[in-house]
Amino acid sequence: MIEVTLLGTGSPIPDPNRAGPATLVRAGGQVFLVDCGRGVLQRAAAVGVGAAGLSALLLTHLHSDHIAELGDVLITSWVTNFAPDPPPLQIIGPPGTAEVVEATLKAFGHDIGYRIAHHADLNAPPPIEVHEHTDGLVWDRDGVTIRVAPTDHRPVAPTIGFRIEFDGASVVLAGDTVPCPTLDELASGADALVHTVIRKDILTQVPQQRVKDVCDYHSSVQEAAATAARAGVDTLIMTHYVPAIAPGQEEQWRSLASTEFGGRVEVGDDLHRVEVSARQ
Ligand SMILES: [Zn+2]
Ligand SMILES: [Zn+2]
Repeated sequence: MIEVTLLGTGSPIPDPNRAGPATLVRAGGQVFLVDCGRGVLQRAAAVGVGAAGLSALLLTHLHSDHIAELGDVLITSWVTNFAPDPPPLQIIGPPGTAEVVEATLKAFGHDIGYRIAHHADLNAPPPIEVHEHTDGLVWDRDGVTIRVAPTDHRPVAPTIGFRIEFDGASVVLAGDTVPCPTLDELASGADALVHTVIRKDILTQVPQQRVKDVCDYHSSVQEAAATAARAGVDTLIMTHYVPAIAPGQEEQWRSLASTEFGGRVEVGDDLHRVEVSARQ
Protein backbone atom coordinates (compact mmCIF):
# COMPACT_ATOMS: atom_id res chain seq x y z
CA MET A 1 0.00 0.00 0.00
CA ILE A 2 1.14 3.51 -0.80
CA GLU A 3 -0.31 6.39 1.18
CA VAL A 4 -0.76 9.75 -0.52
CA THR A 5 -1.48 12.87 1.55
CA LEU A 6 -2.24 16.20 -0.08
CA LEU A 7 -0.22 18.50 2.18
CA GLY A 8 -0.88 21.62 0.17
CA THR A 9 -3.63 21.99 -2.43
CA GLY A 10 -3.13 25.70 -3.09
CA SER A 11 -1.49 27.66 -5.84
CA PRO A 12 0.69 30.78 -6.10
CA ILE A 13 -2.21 32.84 -4.67
CA PRO A 14 -2.00 32.82 -0.85
CA ASP A 15 -5.06 31.19 0.64
CA PRO A 16 -5.94 31.09 4.34
CA ASN A 17 -7.01 27.44 4.07
CA ARG A 18 -4.64 25.94 1.55
CA ALA A 19 -0.89 25.52 1.82
CA GLY A 20 1.21 25.72 -1.34
CA PRO A 21 1.74 22.76 -3.66
CA ALA A 22 3.15 19.74 -1.80
CA THR A 23 2.25 16.06 -1.61
CA LEU A 24 3.46 13.46 0.85
CA VAL A 25 3.93 9.89 -0.31
CA ARG A 26 4.62 7.13 2.23
CA ALA A 27 5.61 3.68 1.06
CA GLY A 28 7.30 0.83 2.91
CA GLY A 29 8.41 3.08 5.77
CA GLN A 30 9.93 5.61 3.38
CA VAL A 31 8.67 9.17 3.25
CA PHE A 32 8.80 11.30 0.11
CA LEU A 33 7.90 14.96 -0.07
CA VAL A 34 6.93 15.95 -3.60
CA ASP A 35 7.38 19.72 -4.00
CA CYS A 36 7.57 22.06 -1.03
CA GLY A 37 5.13 24.92 -1.36
CA ARG A 38 4.21 27.49 1.24
CA GLY A 39 3.45 26.08 4.69
CA VAL A 40 4.51 22.55 3.86
CA LEU A 41 6.26 21.72 7.13
CA GLN A 42 3.26 22.85 9.18
CA ARG A 43 1.03 20.52 7.18
CA ALA A 44 3.59 17.70 7.44
CA ALA A 45 3.68 18.18 11.22
CA ALA A 46 -0.09 17.65 11.25
CA VAL A 47 0.46 14.09 10.00
CA GLY A 48 3.44 13.40 12.23
CA VAL A 49 6.16 13.96 9.65
CA GLY A 50 9.15 16.17 10.40
CA ALA A 51 11.71 17.49 7.96
CA ALA A 52 14.39 15.21 9.45
CA GLY A 53 12.21 12.18 8.70
CA LEU A 54 12.19 12.62 4.92
CA SER A 55 13.71 9.88 2.79
CA ALA A 56 13.91 12.33 -0.11
CA LEU A 57 12.59 15.61 -1.42
CA LEU A 58 11.33 15.26 -4.99
CA LEU A 59 10.88 18.41 -7.06
CA THR A 60 8.76 18.43 -10.23
CA HIS A 61 10.00 21.87 -11.29
CA LEU A 62 11.45 25.10 -10.01
CA HIS A 63 8.40 27.40 -10.07
CA SER A 64 8.29 29.50 -6.90
CA ASP A 65 5.00 28.07 -5.62
CA HIS A 66 6.49 24.55 -5.69
CA ILE A 67 9.74 25.45 -3.91
CA ALA A 68 8.63 28.34 -1.67
CA GLU A 69 9.67 26.50 1.50
CA LEU A 70 12.87 24.93 0.19
CA GLY A 71 14.93 27.00 2.63
CA ASP A 72 12.77 25.88 5.55
CA VAL A 73 13.07 22.22 4.51
CA LEU A 74 16.87 22.46 4.15
CA ILE A 75 17.47 24.26 7.44
CA THR A 76 14.84 22.46 9.52
CA SER A 77 15.87 18.99 8.33
CA TRP A 78 19.40 19.92 9.44
CA VAL A 79 18.73 21.44 12.87
CA THR A 80 16.11 18.87 13.89
CA ASN A 81 18.20 15.83 13.02
CA PHE A 82 19.91 14.68 16.22
CA ALA A 83 21.69 11.65 14.75
CA PRO A 84 25.44 11.94 15.35
CA ASP A 85 26.33 11.71 11.67
CA PRO A 86 23.10 12.12 9.71
CA PRO A 87 23.01 10.99 6.10
CA PRO A 88 22.62 13.78 3.53
CA LEU A 89 19.12 14.91 2.60
CA GLN A 90 18.42 13.44 -0.81
CA ILE A 91 16.92 15.87 -3.33
CA ILE A 92 15.83 14.70 -6.77
CA GLY A 93 14.77 17.29 -9.32
CA PRO A 94 15.20 18.50 -12.87
CA PRO A 95 18.42 20.17 -14.08
CA GLY A 96 18.72 23.53 -12.32
CA THR A 97 17.88 22.02 -8.93
CA ALA A 98 21.51 21.98 -7.73
CA GLU A 99 21.89 25.66 -8.58
CA VAL A 100 18.69 26.56 -6.71
CA VAL A 101 19.71 24.49 -3.66
CA GLU A 102 23.16 26.07 -3.65
CA ALA A 103 21.71 29.58 -3.91
CA THR A 104 19.21 28.83 -1.13
CA LEU A 105 22.00 27.62 1.15
CA LYS A 106 23.87 30.83 0.31
CA ALA A 107 20.80 32.90 1.19
CA PHE A 108 20.72 31.14 4.57
CA GLY A 109 24.49 31.40 4.95
CA HIS A 110 24.28 33.74 7.94
CA ASP A 111 21.81 31.45 9.69
CA ILE A 112 23.95 28.39 9.02
CA GLY A 113 26.97 30.23 10.43
CA TYR A 114 25.10 31.28 13.60
CA ARG A 115 23.99 27.71 14.28
CA ILE A 116 27.44 26.22 13.71
CA ALA A 117 28.91 28.87 16.04
CA HIS A 118 26.28 28.23 18.71
CA HIS A 119 25.91 24.42 18.79
CA ALA A 120 28.94 22.25 19.54
CA ASP A 121 27.37 19.28 17.72
CA LEU A 122 26.72 21.21 14.50
CA ASN A 123 30.00 21.77 12.77
CA ALA A 124 29.23 21.65 9.08
CA PRO A 125 26.52 23.09 6.83
CA PRO A 126 23.43 20.96 6.07
CA PRO A 127 24.48 17.71 4.36
CA ILE A 128 22.59 17.57 1.07
CA GLU A 129 22.88 15.47 -2.08
CA VAL A 130 21.20 16.74 -5.21
CA HIS A 131 20.43 14.43 -8.12
CA GLU A 132 19.28 16.01 -11.37
CA HIS A 133 17.30 13.82 -13.76
CA THR A 134 14.85 14.07 -16.62
CA ASP A 135 14.28 10.40 -17.35
CA GLY A 136 14.70 6.91 -15.98
CA LEU A 137 15.10 5.11 -12.66
CA VAL A 138 16.20 7.49 -9.89
CA TRP A 139 15.55 5.53 -6.68
CA ASP A 140 15.71 1.85 -5.77
CA ARG A 141 15.82 1.19 -2.03
CA ASP A 142 14.23 -1.49 0.12
CA GLY A 143 11.50 -2.30 -2.35
CA VAL A 144 10.62 1.27 -3.32
CA THR A 145 11.45 2.40 -6.85
CA ILE A 146 11.02 5.82 -8.39
CA ARG A 147 11.13 6.65 -12.08
CA VAL A 148 10.93 10.06 -13.69
CA ALA A 149 9.93 11.27 -17.13
CA PRO A 150 9.77 14.70 -18.76
CA THR A 151 6.51 16.64 -18.63
CA ASP A 152 5.49 19.70 -20.65
CA HIS A 153 5.12 22.96 -18.71
CA ARG A 154 6.93 25.14 -21.23
CA PRO A 155 8.37 27.73 -21.09
CA VAL A 156 9.21 26.21 -17.71
CA ALA A 157 11.73 23.51 -18.66
CA PRO A 158 12.83 20.96 -17.90
CA THR A 159 10.02 19.62 -15.71
CA ILE A 160 9.49 16.06 -14.53
CA GLY A 161 6.86 13.70 -13.19
CA PHE A 162 7.52 10.88 -10.72
CA ARG A 163 6.28 7.29 -10.59
CA ILE A 164 6.67 5.70 -7.17
CA GLU A 165 6.18 1.94 -6.85
CA PHE A 166 6.06 -0.32 -3.84
CA ASP A 167 4.78 -3.84 -3.34
CA GLY A 168 2.86 -3.88 -6.61
CA ALA A 169 1.21 -0.48 -6.07
CA SER A 170 2.13 2.57 -8.13
CA VAL A 171 1.45 6.28 -7.84
CA VAL A 172 2.34 8.87 -10.47
CA LEU A 173 2.77 12.55 -9.61
CA ALA A 174 2.44 14.69 -12.69
CA GLY A 175 3.16 18.14 -11.30
CA ASP A 176 2.25 21.07 -13.56
CA THR A 177 1.98 20.01 -17.19
CA VAL A 178 -0.17 20.00 -20.26
CA PRO A 179 -1.10 16.56 -21.57
CA CYS A 180 1.92 14.94 -23.23
CA PRO A 181 3.00 11.49 -24.45
CA THR A 182 5.86 11.19 -21.94
CA LEU A 183 3.43 11.66 -19.04
CA ASP A 184 1.00 9.19 -20.63
CA GLU A 185 3.79 6.65 -20.78
CA LEU A 186 4.94 7.30 -17.20
CA ALA A 187 1.38 6.96 -15.89
CA SER A 188 0.43 3.97 -18.01
CA GLY A 189 -1.17 1.25 -15.89
CA ALA A 190 -0.49 3.03 -12.58
CA ASP A 191 -2.95 2.67 -9.72
CA ALA A 192 -3.23 6.39 -9.02
CA LEU A 193 -2.37 9.65 -10.75
CA VAL A 194 -1.90 12.83 -8.71
CA HIS A 195 -2.39 15.72 -11.12
CA THR A 196 -2.44 19.50 -10.70
CA VAL A 197 -5.54 21.08 -12.23
CA ILE A 198 -6.88 24.47 -13.19
CA ARG A 199 -10.32 25.63 -14.29
CA LYS A 200 -9.74 27.11 -17.74
CA ASP A 201 -13.48 27.86 -18.02
CA ILE A 202 -13.11 30.24 -15.07
CA LEU A 203 -9.64 31.67 -15.72
CA THR A 204 -10.38 32.65 -19.31
CA GLN A 205 -13.14 34.95 -17.97
CA VAL A 206 -10.72 36.91 -15.77
CA PRO A 207 -9.83 40.29 -17.36
CA GLN A 208 -6.09 40.21 -16.57
CA GLN A 209 -4.07 38.66 -19.38
CA ARG A 210 -1.50 37.43 -16.84
CA VAL A 211 -4.18 35.22 -15.30
CA LYS A 212 -5.35 33.98 -18.70
CA ASP A 213 -1.70 33.08 -19.49
CA VAL A 214 -1.87 30.42 -16.75
CA CYS A 215 -4.05 28.34 -19.10
CA ASP A 216 -1.18 27.92 -21.61
CA TYR A 217 0.89 25.50 -19.60
CA HIS A 218 -1.46 23.71 -17.21
CA SER A 219 -3.99 20.93 -17.59
CA SER A 220 -7.64 21.68 -17.00
CA VAL A 221 -9.67 19.29 -14.85
CA GLN A 222 -10.93 17.63 -18.03
CA GLU A 223 -7.43 17.36 -19.54
CA ALA A 224 -6.02 15.79 -16.37
CA ALA A 225 -8.97 13.39 -16.34
CA ALA A 226 -8.35 12.49 -19.99
CA THR A 227 -4.71 11.76 -19.15
CA ALA A 228 -5.90 9.49 -16.33
CA ALA A 229 -8.25 7.73 -18.76
CA ARG A 230 -5.57 7.21 -21.43
CA ALA A 231 -3.18 5.85 -18.80
CA GLY A 232 -5.83 3.49 -17.50
CA VAL A 233 -5.30 4.41 -13.85
CA ASP A 234 -7.85 3.45 -11.19
CA THR A 235 -7.80 6.72 -9.27
CA LEU A 236 -7.29 10.37 -10.20
CA ILE A 237 -6.26 12.57 -7.29
CA MET A 238 -6.65 16.24 -8.16
CA THR A 239 -4.68 18.98 -6.39
CA HIS A 240 -3.26 22.53 -6.89
CA TYR A 241 -6.72 23.93 -7.56
CA VAL A 242 -6.74 27.19 -9.52
CA PRO A 243 -8.84 28.98 -8.54
CA ALA A 244 -9.29 27.51 -5.06
CA ILE A 245 -12.37 25.30 -4.86
CA ALA A 246 -15.16 27.38 -3.37
CA PRO A 247 -16.93 25.72 -0.43
CA GLY A 248 -19.59 23.34 -1.70
CA GLN A 249 -18.19 23.25 -5.24
CA GLU A 250 -16.29 19.96 -4.91
CA GLU A 251 -18.97 18.02 -6.78
CA GLN A 252 -18.75 20.41 -9.72
CA TRP A 253 -15.00 19.75 -10.03
CA ARG A 254 -15.57 16.01 -9.65
CA SER A 255 -18.26 15.94 -12.33
CA LEU A 256 -16.03 17.85 -14.77
CA ALA A 257 -13.42 15.11 -14.28
CA SER A 258 -16.08 12.43 -14.73
CA THR A 259 -16.83 13.67 -18.25
CA GLU A 260 -13.45 12.23 -19.29
CA PHE A 261 -12.60 9.58 -16.71
CA GLY A 262 -14.72 6.73 -15.37
CA GLY A 263 -12.56 5.76 -12.38
CA ARG A 264 -12.41 7.02 -8.81
CA VAL A 265 -11.87 10.79 -8.54
CA GLU A 266 -10.44 12.24 -5.34
CA VAL A 267 -10.91 15.95 -4.64
CA GLY A 268 -9.80 17.13 -1.24
CA ASP A 269 -8.59 19.87 1.00
CA ASP A 270 -5.17 19.98 2.64
CA LEU A 271 -4.42 16.75 4.55
CA HIS A 272 -6.78 14.70 2.39
CA ARG A 273 -5.34 11.18 2.45
CA VAL A 274 -5.73 8.45 -0.14
CA GLU A 275 -4.61 4.84 0.27
CA VAL A 276 -3.46 3.29 -2.98
CA SER A 277 -3.30 -0.50 -3.21
CA ALA A 278 -2.14 -2.69 -6.04
CA ARG A 279 -5.09 -3.65 -8.20
CA GLN A 280 -6.34 -7.19 -7.70
ZN1 LIG B 1 4.45 25.45 -12.40
ZN1 LIG C 1 2.17 25.28 -9.88
